[in-house]
Amino acid sequence: MTRLSITSEEFTAIGNDVVRLMADYLDQLPTLPTVPATTAAEVEAIFGGDAPESPLEADALSLLPEVLRLSRPTGPRFFGYVLGSSDPVAAYGDFIAAILQQNVTAWRSSPAAITLERTVVRWLAEAIGLAGYAGSLCGGGSSANLMGLAMAREAKLPANDNGAQGGIVYVSTETHFSSAKAVALLGLGRRNIRTIPTDSAFRMDVAALERTLQADIASGFTPLAVVASAGSTATGAIDPINTIADIAEQYGLWLHIDGAYGGLAAMAAPEKFTGINRADSLSLDPHKWLYQPLSCGCLLYCDRETAARTFSGSAEYTKSFSSNAEESFAFFDESIELSRSFRALKLWLSIRYHGLNAIRSSIGCDMELAALLQQHVENTPELELLSPAALSAVCFRHRGTAGLSHDDLNNFNSTLLQQLLARGRVYLSNAELDGAFALRACIVNHRTEAADMQLIIDEVLATASSMSLP
Ligand SMILES: *Cc1c(COP(=O)(O)O)cnc(C)c1O
Repeated sequence: MTRLSITSEEFTAIGNDVVRLMADYLDQLPTLPTVPATTAAEVEAIFGGDAPESPLEADALSLLPEVLRLSRPTGPRFFGYVLGSSDPVAAYGDFIAAILQQNVTAWRSSPAAITLERTVVRWLAEAIGLAGYAGSLCGGGSSANLMGLAMAREAKLPANDNGAQGGIVYVSTETHFSSAKAVALLGLGRRNIRTIPTDSAFRMDVAALERTLQADIASGFTPLAVVASAGSTATGAIDPINTIADIAEQYGLWLHIDGAYGGLAAMAAPEKFTGINRADSLSLDPHKWLYQPLSCGCLLYCDRETAARTFSGSAEYTKSFSSNAEESFAFFDESIELSRSFRALKLWLSIRYHGLNAIRSSIGCDMELAALLQQHVENTPELELLSPAALSAVCFRHRGTAGLSHDDLNNFNSTLLQQLLARGRVYLSNAELDGAFALRACIVNHRTEAADMQLIIDEVLATASSMSLP
């Protein structure tokens, strides 16, 4: 009978090959085109075959260079979405976690992993000014928002036993769609979402929030929660958190802060986030602006009791036999998942290796680069700034030619973006701001440098001049 075992020599040989391959990749990363030149047919032809019945052994690695070639590199000139290069030190954390195969359920299953996760969660909370908050790591901001709003529901209109009873959730037009998805999944109903308009800087209009709340109350609705963005995805706009916290307090709303993009920037620029420590729950995404490999999200909350009421559920096989509070700790009593990976190890290694100071200054650097890009845009007559660098995202567009209609200008910029991406020198994504198609650059990458900001401008202008202006 054949089993899966390999020898220590084989294991080491694979490791040496893989480490060399990845070290070369990291060396090349700054010069790789920002999109792989390929087609779905080519990728399918290479990877779409049948599973082998017989062992390939070391030859199993032979297609790894193709995996690298056909991956979109997150190098220093990748500015799409909210995604930077990952910290290679953290990658070793994932590697070690995979070998250790800790199931991070409860202390007795994984003493080191449980304790490290609680430690790094505390480090993150303290680093952004939320000392005393508890929480857990999860798959990303979407899961964290789901858990935060589940806690809101259980705190304000308990639903676990008898089902959801409605309740109104307030978001803004700039709130990430994962919050609306959470409302739907939680059975609260999308029609119970109130979408509050934003001001000229894309921040929630707090006067409109209060008017809407009062109208809802007058009509007999029960307000449940408000989601404040600590960095909206499109523009990085930070809602007036402190005022929203006042309103939440006055009307008895749960305050969930979506900090998946920007919350970690409170490490470097706490003055932008006044009131963040008044959140009932807050989402963070270390795989965005803490340079961690995917995936790593985090939910922080103020009240562990509410987390326990929301998420605990038990079976005979999960019972703890310990009377020691630390040794009977279980993440499954405070979060959705039971079997969980050892995400804390990469964070812990990365933070220990580089130190908080380097991380803070890396985040600060990203924000300075965005401010520089904003300046470049403002100094370029062909370009129009559509949103300032509130954090590290800048939205702008090419003005086209004078007298273009709204739609023609949008189409022009949309085509410009496609052609810019095909050139492969910088990667931008897009956003829609007040109906305008925007080119969007988001800098959350420790490899990005000042010269790359000028390159964005040069590439946009070069692409535009290669097109026939409408
Ligand atoms: C990215 C993002 C999310 C979703 O996070 P995932 O990690 O992609 O699930 C939620 N909110 C904001 C503001 C984001 O930028």
